[in-house]
Amino acid sequence: KAKSEGRSTYHFFEAGMDAALQQRRSIEAGLRLALQRQELRLVYQPLLGLKENRVTCVEALLRWDHDDRTISPVEFIPIAEETGLIVPIGEWVLREACRTAATWPGEVRVAVNLSPIQFKSRDLVGLVKSALSEARLAPTRLELEITESLLLAESESVLKALHELRAMGVRISMDDFGTGYSSLSYLRSFPFDKIKIDRSFMADLTSRQDSQAIIRAVIGLGQSLGMSTTAEGVETEEQLAMVRAEGCSEVQGFLFSPPLPPAALANLLQSEKGASEAERKKAS
Ligand code: C2E
Ligand code: MG
Ligand code: MG
Ligand code: MG
Repeated sequence: KAKSEGRSTYHFFEAGMDAALQQRRSIEAGLRLALQRQELRLVYQPLLGLKENRVTCVEALLRWDHDDRTISPVEFIPIAEETGLIVPIGEWVLREACRTAATWPGEVRVAVNLSPIQFKSRDLVGLVKSALSEARLAPTRLELEITESLLLAESESVLKALHELRAMGVRISMDDFGTGYSSLSYLRSFPFDKIKIDRSFMADLTSRQDSQAIIRAVIGLGQSLGMSTTAEGVETEEQLAMVRAEGCSEVQGFLFSPPLPPAALANLLQSEKGASEAERKKAS
Protein backbone atom coordinates (compact mmCIF):
# COMPACT_ATOMS: atom_id res chain seq x y z
CA LYS A 1 0.00 0.00 0.00
CA ALA A 2 2.70 2.39 1.11
CA LYS A 3 4.51 1.68 -2.10
CA SER A 4 1.55 2.55 -4.31
CA GLU A 5 0.87 5.75 -2.36
CA GLY A 6 4.45 6.76 -2.80
CA ARG A 7 4.17 6.18 -6.47
CA SER A 8 1.01 8.25 -6.86
CA THR A 9 2.60 11.14 -4.96
CA TYR A 10 5.52 10.90 -7.29
CA HIS A 11 3.26 10.92 -10.32
CA PHE A 12 1.40 13.94 -8.98
CA PHE A 13 4.65 15.82 -8.47
CA GLU A 14 5.87 14.85 -11.89
CA ALA A 15 2.65 16.08 -13.48
CA GLY A 16 3.07 19.46 -11.79
CA MET A 17 6.63 19.75 -13.06
CA ASP A 18 5.46 18.73 -16.47
CA ALA A 19 2.94 21.55 -16.68
CA ALA A 20 5.49 24.27 -15.85
CA LEU A 21 8.12 22.74 -18.08
CA GLN A 22 5.64 22.20 -20.88
CA GLN A 23 4.57 25.85 -20.73
CA ARG A 24 8.20 26.98 -20.89
CA ARG A 25 9.05 24.59 -23.71
CA SER A 26 6.07 25.78 -25.68
CA ILE A 27 7.10 29.44 -25.27
CA GLU A 28 10.61 28.46 -26.26
CA ALA A 29 9.46 26.54 -29.34
CA GLY A 30 7.08 29.35 -30.30
CA LEU A 31 9.79 31.94 -29.85
CA ARG A 32 12.11 29.98 -32.13
CA LEU A 33 9.57 30.40 -34.94
CA ALA A 34 8.38 33.90 -34.00
CA LEU A 35 10.83 35.69 -36.29
CA GLN A 36 10.12 33.71 -39.44
CA ARG A 37 6.37 33.78 -38.73
CA GLN A 38 6.60 37.56 -38.34
CA GLU A 39 4.90 37.49 -34.96
CA LEU A 40 7.26 40.08 -33.46
CA ARG A 41 6.58 43.78 -33.76
CA LEU A 42 7.75 47.00 -32.18
CA VAL A 43 5.70 49.64 -30.43
CA TYR A 44 7.12 53.10 -29.82
CA GLN A 45 6.85 55.25 -26.70
CA PRO A 46 7.75 58.93 -27.07
CA LEU A 47 9.90 60.70 -24.47
CA LEU A 48 9.15 64.37 -23.88
CA GLY A 49 12.11 66.73 -23.53
CA LEU A 50 11.15 69.20 -20.81
CA LYS A 51 13.42 72.03 -21.96
CA GLU A 52 12.66 71.50 -25.65
CA ASN A 53 8.97 70.88 -24.99
CA ARG A 54 8.90 68.32 -27.79
CA VAL A 55 9.52 64.65 -28.39
CA THR A 56 13.28 64.23 -28.20
CA CYS A 57 13.46 60.45 -28.24
CA VAL A 58 11.26 57.41 -28.85
CA GLU A 59 11.83 54.03 -27.18
CA ALA A 60 11.25 50.89 -29.24
CA LEU A 61 9.55 48.15 -27.21
CA LEU A 62 9.08 44.57 -28.37
CA ARG A 63 5.73 42.76 -28.56
CA TRP A 64 5.00 39.14 -29.51
CA ASP A 65 1.62 38.26 -31.01
CA HIS A 66 1.23 34.56 -30.39
CA ASP A 67 -1.74 32.19 -30.00
CA ASP A 68 -4.36 34.95 -29.99
CA ARG A 69 -2.66 37.04 -27.34
CA THR A 70 0.12 39.58 -27.09
CA ILE A 71 2.94 38.38 -24.88
CA SER A 72 4.87 40.96 -22.85
CA PRO A 73 8.65 41.20 -23.13
CA VAL A 74 8.78 40.76 -19.37
CA GLU A 75 7.58 37.21 -20.01
CA PHE A 76 9.65 36.21 -23.02
CA ILE A 77 12.89 38.23 -22.93
CA PRO A 78 14.31 36.15 -20.04
CA ILE A 79 13.61 32.94 -22.03
CA ALA A 80 15.09 34.50 -25.15
CA GLU A 81 18.20 35.33 -23.12
CA GLU A 82 18.55 31.85 -21.64
CA THR A 83 18.19 30.18 -25.01
CA GLY A 84 20.36 32.63 -26.92
CA LEU A 85 17.39 33.53 -29.13
CA ILE A 86 17.86 37.12 -27.97
CA VAL A 87 20.74 37.37 -30.44
CA PRO A 88 18.74 37.05 -33.70
CA ILE A 89 15.72 38.75 -32.10
CA GLY A 90 17.85 41.64 -30.87
CA GLU A 91 19.37 42.02 -34.32
CA TRP A 92 15.91 42.21 -35.86
CA VAL A 93 14.83 44.82 -33.26
CA LEU A 94 17.85 47.02 -33.98
CA ARG A 95 17.42 46.91 -37.77
CA GLU A 96 13.66 47.42 -37.62
CA ALA A 97 13.91 50.33 -35.14
CA CYS A 98 16.57 52.08 -37.28
CA ARG A 99 14.51 51.64 -40.47
CA THR A 100 11.44 53.09 -38.76
CA ALA A 101 13.32 55.99 -37.16
CA ALA A 102 14.71 56.98 -40.56
CA THR A 103 11.15 57.90 -41.61
CA TRP A 104 10.58 60.27 -38.67
CA PRO A 105 10.95 64.02 -39.05
CA GLY A 106 13.74 66.13 -37.60
CA GLU A 107 16.17 65.16 -34.92
CA VAL A 108 14.00 62.69 -33.03
CA ARG A 109 16.17 59.86 -31.73
CA VAL A 110 15.28 56.21 -31.35
CA ALA A 111 16.19 54.22 -28.23
CA VAL A 112 16.76 50.48 -28.46
CA ASN A 113 17.11 48.13 -25.49
CA LEU A 114 20.13 45.86 -25.55
CA SER A 115 20.49 42.64 -23.62
CA PRO A 116 23.90 41.97 -22.04
CA ILE A 117 23.92 38.68 -23.99
CA GLN A 118 24.16 40.70 -27.20
CA PHE A 119 27.50 42.07 -26.03
CA LYS A 120 28.80 38.55 -25.52
CA SER A 121 27.88 37.51 -29.02
CA ARG A 122 29.63 38.33 -32.25
CA ASP A 123 30.43 41.81 -33.33
CA LEU A 124 27.91 44.15 -31.75
CA VAL A 125 29.65 47.29 -33.02
CA GLY A 126 29.61 45.87 -36.57
CA LEU A 127 25.92 45.06 -36.25
CA VAL A 128 25.09 48.61 -35.12
CA LYS A 129 27.10 50.09 -38.01
CA SER A 130 25.35 47.81 -40.47
CA ALA A 131 21.86 48.62 -39.10
CA LEU A 132 22.57 52.37 -39.28
CA SER A 133 23.98 52.36 -42.80
CA GLU A 134 21.28 50.03 -44.12
CA ALA A 135 18.63 52.42 -42.75
CA ARG A 136 20.64 55.54 -43.66
CA LEU A 137 20.22 56.75 -40.11
CA ALA A 138 22.82 59.06 -38.55
CA PRO A 139 24.54 57.46 -35.52
CA THR A 140 23.55 60.51 -33.44
CA ARG A 141 19.90 59.50 -33.86
CA LEU A 142 20.44 56.19 -32.05
CA GLU A 143 20.46 55.56 -28.32
CA LEU A 144 21.25 52.18 -26.81
CA GLU A 145 19.76 51.35 -23.41
CA ILE A 146 21.56 48.92 -21.18
CA THR A 147 20.71 47.70 -17.73
CA GLU A 148 23.41 47.07 -15.21
CA SER A 149 24.38 43.46 -14.85
CA LEU A 150 27.31 41.40 -13.73
CA LEU A 151 28.09 40.49 -17.31
CA LEU A 152 28.78 44.10 -18.09
CA ALA A 153 30.80 44.78 -14.98
CA GLU A 154 33.32 42.05 -15.52
CA SER A 155 34.11 42.56 -19.11
CA GLU A 156 36.80 44.72 -20.68
CA SER A 157 35.44 43.87 -24.12
CA VAL A 158 32.02 45.27 -23.23
CA LEU A 159 33.57 48.57 -22.17
CA LYS A 160 35.59 48.63 -25.38
CA ALA A 161 32.44 48.12 -27.46
CA LEU A 162 30.62 50.87 -25.54
CA HIS A 163 33.49 53.31 -26.12
CA GLU A 164 33.58 52.48 -29.83
CA LEU A 165 29.84 53.04 -30.18
CA ARG A 166 30.06 56.31 -28.33
CA ALA A 167 32.96 57.45 -30.53
CA MET A 168 30.68 56.88 -33.54
CA GLY A 169 28.14 59.28 -32.03
CA VAL A 170 25.71 56.69 -30.67
CA ARG A 171 24.38 57.57 -27.21
CA ILE A 172 24.47 55.12 -24.35
CA SER A 173 21.83 55.19 -21.62
CA MET A 174 21.71 53.38 -18.32
CA ASP A 175 18.22 51.91 -18.02
CA ASP A 176 16.28 51.23 -14.81
CA PHE A 177 18.78 53.14 -12.71
CA GLY A 178 18.65 52.32 -9.02
CA THR A 179 17.29 48.79 -9.22
CA GLY A 180 20.52 46.81 -9.37
CA TYR A 181 23.31 46.27 -6.92
CA SER A 182 25.95 48.55 -8.30
CA SER A 183 24.38 51.44 -10.19
CA LEU A 184 26.83 53.94 -8.76
CA SER A 185 29.98 52.04 -9.63
CA TYR A 186 28.68 51.65 -13.19
CA LEU A 187 28.48 55.41 -13.53
CA ARG A 188 32.16 55.49 -12.71
CA SER A 189 33.16 52.74 -15.12
CA PHE A 190 31.55 54.32 -18.18
CA PRO A 191 30.52 57.86 -19.16
CA PHE A 192 26.84 57.26 -19.92
CA ASP A 193 24.97 59.95 -21.81
CA LYS A 194 21.71 59.39 -19.99
CA ILE A 195 20.39 57.97 -16.74
CA LYS A 196 16.85 56.56 -16.79
CA ILE A 197 15.44 56.56 -13.27
CA ASP A 198 13.51 53.34 -12.71
CA ARG A 199 9.79 53.75 -12.58
CA SER A 200 9.51 52.07 -9.18
CA PHE A 201 10.76 55.34 -7.66
CA MET A 202 8.06 57.27 -9.51
CA ALA A 203 5.35 54.82 -8.47
CA ASP A 204 5.50 55.67 -4.78
CA LEU A 205 6.65 59.24 -5.15
CA THR A 206 3.61 60.71 -3.44
CA SER A 207 3.44 58.17 -0.65
CA ARG A 208 7.11 58.00 0.21
CA GLN A 209 9.40 60.85 1.10
CA ASP A 210 12.47 58.71 0.52
CA SER A 211 11.58 58.07 -3.13
CA GLN A 212 11.33 61.79 -3.70
CA ALA A 213 14.72 62.33 -2.06
CA ILE A 214 16.24 59.62 -4.23
CA ILE A 215 14.82 61.05 -7.46
CA ARG A 216 16.08 64.50 -6.52
CA ALA A 217 19.52 63.10 -5.74
CA VAL A 218 19.76 61.12 -9.00
CA ILE A 219 18.80 64.16 -11.08
CA GLY A 220 21.49 66.14 -9.25
CA LEU A 221 23.96 63.34 -9.80
CA GLY A 222 23.23 63.38 -13.52
CA GLN A 223 23.72 67.14 -13.62
CA SER A 224 27.07 67.00 -11.89
CA LEU A 225 28.28 64.14 -14.10
CA GLY A 226 27.06 65.83 -17.29
CA MET A 227 24.51 63.10 -17.98
CA SER A 228 20.91 63.81 -18.91
CA THR A 229 18.15 62.23 -16.85
CA THR A 230 14.86 60.62 -17.80
CA ALA A 231 12.06 59.92 -15.34
CA GLU A 232 10.36 56.64 -16.28
CA GLY A 233 6.75 55.82 -15.47
CA VAL A 234 5.38 59.35 -15.12
CA GLU A 235 1.63 58.82 -14.81
CA THR A 236 0.33 61.91 -12.99
CA GLU A 237 0.57 65.72 -13.27
CA GLU A 238 1.92 65.74 -9.74
CA GLN A 239 4.85 63.48 -10.67
CA LEU A 240 5.53 65.57 -13.76
CA ALA A 241 5.58 68.80 -11.74
CA MET A 242 7.99 67.30 -9.23
CA VAL A 243 10.57 66.02 -11.73
CA ARG A 244 10.29 69.22 -13.77
CA ALA A 245 10.98 71.32 -10.70
CA GLU A 246 14.02 69.19 -9.93
CA GLY A 247 15.50 69.79 -13.39
CA CYS A 248 14.92 66.40 -14.97
CA SER A 249 15.68 66.45 -18.74
CA GLU A 250 13.00 64.09 -20.08
CA VAL A 251 9.86 62.26 -19.02
CA GLN A 252 8.46 58.97 -20.23
CA GLY A 253 5.13 57.56 -19.11
CA PHE A 254 1.44 57.02 -19.65
CA LEU A 255 0.67 60.68 -18.77
CA PHE A 256 2.30 61.85 -21.98
CA SER A 257 1.81 58.73 -24.09
CA PRO A 258 1.73 54.93 -23.86
CA PRO A 259 3.77 52.91 -26.36
CA LEU A 260 2.12 53.32 -29.80
CA PRO A 261 2.01 51.35 -33.04
CA PRO A 262 4.39 52.84 -35.64
CA ALA A 263 1.69 54.66 -37.65
CA ALA A 264 0.20 56.35 -34.58
CA LEU A 265 3.66 57.44 -33.43
CA ALA A 266 4.44 58.86 -36.89
CA ASN A 267 1.18 60.84 -36.74
CA LEU A 268 2.07 62.22 -33.33
CA LEU A 269 5.49 63.37 -34.56
CA GLN A 270 4.00 64.82 -37.72
CA SER A 271 1.33 66.84 -35.89
CA GLU A 272 3.91 68.08 -33.41
CA LYS A 273 6.10 69.21 -36.29
CA GLY A 274 3.12 70.95 -37.92
CA ALA A 275 2.31 72.76 -34.68
CA SER A 276 5.88 74.00 -34.18
CA GLU A 277 6.07 75.25 -37.78
CA ALA A 278 2.82 77.19 -37.30
CA GLU A 279 4.30 78.68 -34.10
CA ARG A 280 7.41 79.79 -35.97
CA LYS A 281 5.38 81.40 -38.77
CA LYS A 282 3.28 83.28 -36.25
CA ALA A 283 6.42 84.54 -34.50
CA SER A 284 8.14 85.75 -37.68
P1 C2E B 1 12.18 49.25 -20.05
O1 C2E B 1 13.27 49.31 -21.06
O2 C2E B 1 12.45 49.89 -18.74
O3 C2E B 1 10.91 49.90 -20.77
C1 C2E B 1 9.96 50.69 -20.11
C2 C2E B 1 8.76 49.88 -19.71
O4 C2E B 1 7.89 50.68 -18.91
C3 C2E B 1 7.90 49.41 -20.89
O5 C2E B 1 7.34 48.14 -20.56
C4 C2E B 1 6.81 50.47 -20.94
O6 C2E B 1 5.62 50.04 -21.58
C5 C2E B 1 6.59 50.68 -19.46
N1 C2E B 1 5.99 51.98 -19.16
C6 C2E B 1 6.19 53.15 -19.81
N2 C2E B 1 5.51 54.16 -19.21
C7 C2E B 1 4.88 53.62 -18.15
C8 C2E B 1 4.00 54.15 -17.13
O7 C2E B 1 3.70 55.35 -17.07
N3 C2E B 1 3.54 53.28 -16.20
C9 C2E B 1 3.87 51.95 -16.22
N4 C2E B 1 3.36 51.17 -15.27
N5 C2E B 1 4.68 51.41 -17.16
C10 C2E B 1 5.19 52.24 -18.12
P2 C2E B 1 7.34 46.92 -21.60
O8 C2E B 1 7.10 47.41 -22.99
O9 C2E B 1 6.45 45.87 -21.03
O10 C2E B 1 8.83 46.41 -21.54
C11 C2E B 1 9.34 45.83 -20.36
C12 C2E B 1 10.82 45.60 -20.43
O11 C2E B 1 11.14 44.61 -21.41
C13 C2E B 1 11.62 46.84 -20.87
O12 C2E B 1 11.77 47.71 -19.78
C14 C2E B 1 12.91 46.21 -21.33
O13 C2E B 1 13.74 45.91 -20.23
C15 C2E B 1 12.42 44.89 -21.93
N6 C2E B 1 12.35 45.02 -23.39
C16 C2E B 1 11.36 45.53 -24.17
N7 C2E B 1 11.69 45.49 -25.47
C17 C2E B 1 12.95 44.97 -25.54
C18 C2E B 1 13.86 44.68 -26.62
O14 C2E B 1 13.62 44.94 -27.80
N8 C2E B 1 15.06 44.11 -26.26
C19 C2E B 1 15.39 43.84 -24.95
N9 C2E B 1 16.58 43.29 -24.69
N10 C2E B 1 14.56 44.11 -23.92
C20 C2E B 1 13.36 44.67 -24.22
MG1 MG C 1 14.44 50.68 -21.83
MG1 MG D 1 13.62 51.53 -18.47
MG1 MG E 1 12.14 49.97 -16.40
